[in-house]
Amino acid sequence: MTNGANIPLHKRLQVLQDRFVERAQGDIQTLCNFADLIDRHHLERNDLVACYQLLHRMAGSAGTFGLPELGAAARVIEKQIKPLAEATEDSVDDKRDAVSVPASLAGAIRKLADLIQNPPQSKDSVAEPANDGEDSFGGTHGMQIHVMALAHSPDYLSGLVAELAVYGFLCDVASFSQPEAAVTRLKEHSGATIIMCVDSELDDVLSFRNENLPKAEHRRFPVVCVGHDGSFESRYRVAARGATAYFCEPLDMPEMAERIESLALERGSRLQGRVLIVDDDKELGEHYSLVLSRAGIKARLVSEPFELMSELSAFEPDLVLMDVQLGGYSGVTLARLIRFEPRWLGLPIVYLSSEDNPENQLDALAKGADEFLVKPVTDDYLVRSVRIRCYRARQLSDLMNRDSLTGLLKHSLIKQEVDKELARCRRSGHPSCVVMLDLDHFKRVNDTWGHGQGDIVIRTLANLLRNRLRETDMIGRYGGEEFLLVLPQCEPRIAAEFIGAIGKSFAELAFGVGDDSFQVTLSAGVASINDFAVADQAIEAADQALYERKHAGRNGVTIYAR
Ligand code: GH3
Ligand code: MG
Ligand code: MG
Repeated sequence: MTNGANIPLHKRLQVLQDRFVERAQGDIQTLCNFADLIDRHHLERNDLVACYQLLHRMAGSAGTFGLPELGAAARVIEKQIKPLAEATEDSVDDKRDAVSVPASLAGAIRKLADLIQNPPQSKDSVAEPANDGEDSFGGTHGMQIHVMALAHSPDYLSGLVAELAVYGFLCDVASFSQPEAAVTRLKEHSGATIIMCVDSELDDVLSFRNENLPKAEHRRFPVVCVGHDGSFESRYRVAARGATAYFCEPLDMPEMAERIESLALERGSRLQGRVLIVDDDKELGEHYSLVLSRAGIKARLVSEPFELMSELSAFEPDLVLMDVQLGGYSGVTLARLIRFEPRWLGLPIVYLSSEDNPENQLDALAKGADEFLVKPVTDDYLVRSVRIRCYRARQLSDLMNRDSLTGLLKHSLIKQEVDKELARCRRSGHPSCVVMLDLDHFKRVNDTWGHGQGDIVIRTLANLLRNRLRETDMIGRYGGEEFLLVLPQCEPRIAAEFIGAIGKSFAELAFGVGDDSFQVTLSAGVASINDFAVADQAIEAADQALYERKHAGRNGVTIYAR
């Protein structure tokens, strides 16, 4: 958003709403003039098409601007006029011939004016993310994941969450006896908060969530349940009551940490997405764009179809929201045009349309889009459906760009990140580091505990890094048990301290199941990117420092010194 950035959002929405009402009043005046022509049997074929287009636009947008009755009434008339208008478009007769339209439609059109008498105030139906931005500090990669155990007597869960804290989650324990304190802490975090409980108290926890947190926010607070009975019946019962995940004793901590992480990413309100909105109705398009931006989703509006392809390349969205009728253009054809370019074959396209006939929807889907959102969509519905689709889209592109075991960037991509960071350092002069990180005696781990356990160790380190590093840091799996990190705006000494602390936490983790457990340490080499002319040399230096660390006894961090 380039202008009005300092104006509060509800004011900007109100401005759009005022603009919409003004436009709708003008449209209704035009429609009333058509109604007069209908009465006098003077309505021309051209007028009929114009009349249909005005009604169609009103049907699709009035609901969004707080006038659902106006939208519904316009929809009813639109549907009656549509067959007449279509017959007119196909006919070879002179467009200026008068057409016969039932007089009842003129009456229905005039009634529209009554429905716009008291335009509502724009209201905030989607909550802005609480304390936005705060959670992105404090050393978290993406967001700080909050785990809160809730119990009547928290002893058992206290031990459990203490173990989870080692994986980088922000953990605490609350008791039902102090509900206010629990609610306050739940609301403190803008991302997802995982509520954890034992299966015998699941019902109490769910009622607590339902009573104390607004329904619209429940998905941000998934309930993870822990129990002793792993039978099918028991799992089924827990699922039916509404838990999102169930873990059974003996607990597999790395697996549980991973599940919590993916739940939080999926549910977090701070999940970023990029959405290109294609709509010729400017007020409506800007409204969608504001509502999505407020929810943390980057949105850009294209209202001129000829700008579509260049905007796609410039913005690189995760998702396109495509209006079906854009003046003289068809959204269905534009979707097909997008698919002409191999680069955009996988891009999800969702139609935003007033089309509520399933047959016609199917027709449009066959031509290249993925789904339909039927206008009017409420703000909340728009945000939720866009967020989940962005999440899925990112999952898919991650499959291509990310390593399947760890979810980290693949070798070639993390190397590119070093290149890019070097260029940024040159431009702005800030210091940045590259870190090479390697597990100690990992061959022994595989030999002693098996390759499967080795994989768990690698995944666990990946999760720990994701949780502890900052949002701007980049993490890649460089090789088998080697990781490459890029830490922008960070001095080598700070980087070494930071990585040292992560290494310490990692060394405390116990792997294995039951009584047989083992621990693993890691070594790291740090180099300042700024000291080198090319990215490869910086990586080489970090590797050199890692090598020195290995020789100096492993389990620690060494900074490269020329
Ligand atoms: P050092 O402390 O010197 O790094 O000793 P090391 O045993 O860790 O080093 P080395 O490079 O000799 O061995 C790395 C081992 O990591 C060998 C390889 O089988 C194992 N490895 C590589 N990729 C994977 C993987 O994806 N999964 C598992 N389980 N093991 C892997
Ligand atoms: Mg190793
Ligand atoms: Mg190695």
